[in-house]
Amino acid sequence: MSVLGRCLGERRVRQLHRALRNGRLTLLCLVMTIVVLRGTIGAGRFGTPEQDLHDIRRLLHRHPHHPHRALTEQQPQHTDSNGAEEEEDPPRDPSKPYSLGPKISDWDEQRADWLRRHPERPSFLGSTKPRVLLVTGSSPKPCENPVGDHYLLKSIKNKIDYCRVHGIEIFYNMALLDAEMAGFWAKLPLIRSLLLAHPEVEFLWWMDSDAMFTDMAFELPWERYAPFNLVLHGWNEMVYDDRNWIGLNTGSFLLRNCQWSLDLLDVWAPMGPKGKTRTEAGKVLTAFLKDRPVFEADDQSAMVYLLVTQRDRWGDKVYLESAYYLHGYWGILVDRYEEMIENYHPGLGDHRWPLVTHFVGCKPCGKFGDYPVERCLKQMDRAFNFGDNQILQMYGFTHKSLASRRVKRIRNETSNPLELKDELGLLHPAFKATKVTGTAS
Ligand code: UDP
Ligand code: MN
Repeated sequence: MSVLGRCLGERRVRQLHRALRNGRLTLLCLVMTIVVLRGTIGAGRFGTPEQDLHDIRRLLHRHPHHPHRALTEQQPQHTDSNGAEEEEDPPRDPSKPYSLGPKISDWDEQRADWLRRHPERPSFLGSTKPRVLLVTGSSPKPCENPVGDHYLLKSIKNKIDYCRVHGIEIFYNMALLDAEMAGFWAKLPLIRSLLLAHPEVEFLWWMDSDAMFTDMAFELPWERYAPFNLVLHGWNEMVYDDRNWIGLNTGSFLLRNCQWSLDLLDVWAPMGPKGKTRTEAGKVLTAFLKDRPVFEADDQSAMVYLLVTQRDRWGDKVYLESAYYLHGYWGILVDRYEEMIENYHPGLGDHRWPLVTHFVGCKPCGKFGDYPVERCLKQMDRAFNFGDNQILQMYGFTHKSLASRRVKRIRNETSNPLELKDELGLLHPAFKATKVTGTAS
């Protein structure tokens, strides 16, 4: 034991050492910060040492830990790039009914005409395979819960993977096209714009940002949908007999590009405008629908309401799919992934290997969801990895476990890579092959 140790006691000496170490670290940080700041701002701007210290204090106060990193979005509020005040949209006259846009009543003719003039952009890629545009999106603002942005990234990566394998195009929207239709209603004006701008697209596939593909091999049964214009996951009895607000789900659905769909959007939209309209409509929906909690009008309840009250007008063109999970509620799926891996294989799409796992009510991007956010994020990681394994296997890798970001090799590297056959046949699937026309050999 040292002299100092004997005088102060060993514990005190350890504390003193720790304090000195910490002190040294603090000093080092301060010196580094000054060096960095001097480098950024240029020594020339600094006058006397007191002036230096004053400026540094001011800068450190603004970004106490990372002088180089903006931790929030840098955007002037309500001013454009020239510093001028941004004009607020004038409020809509509430006495006039809400409309998504000018009335169009000859879309089928307009579109057919366009397709005739553009044989190079057919709306069908095969005899039954339509050209499909998958549409998803999120709010223009960064997530209130910062890690939510990371999950949005995982979610779009997952969709890009499925769509690449299946020859589907993708549109990601982050613009609020119509201020009145914020939140879950934002998809309506977006869908209308995209249908009109892309006559070559036969089916638009809306998918929520909180839904992920968990079966990369499942191809939708397109022939089944030939007579229909709207395909949602759901059950006829639950919608038409029970008027249950969860009898269908609007987190993942198909909509055909035709006049019928434009008309449907027109009658679906009026409960959407935020404020009094949406709140009052919420009361109507809660009173009419089974088990619906009290809250503002949402697009899903409005769809059930519409189908029940106007079944004659819409019912025969709406297909409620329950043979596989076009949408699958996460609560009943995520704990069974290991069991599925044990017993089944991708390509089934149903309870044995769900096409989509949808994190309804999780709100990973927002502040408040219906479930604890840690549970949601953990399960979203599992769903992502479950789907991602089917992508990684093509390249000879897999996640170490469903809970792990890390991956391991599942086969040896080879000098004849083209002789490898990927198990699921996802590298060169038949449904991705494009028809070659006019080159008979
Ligand atoms: N959404 C959007 N812009 C917004 C807010 C939401 O495009 O400003 C989309 C997003 O894709 C989201 C979907 O609307 O997934 C529906 O909302 P959410 O998934 O939170 O509802 P839930 O499925 O939990 O009922
Ligand atoms: Mn959702």
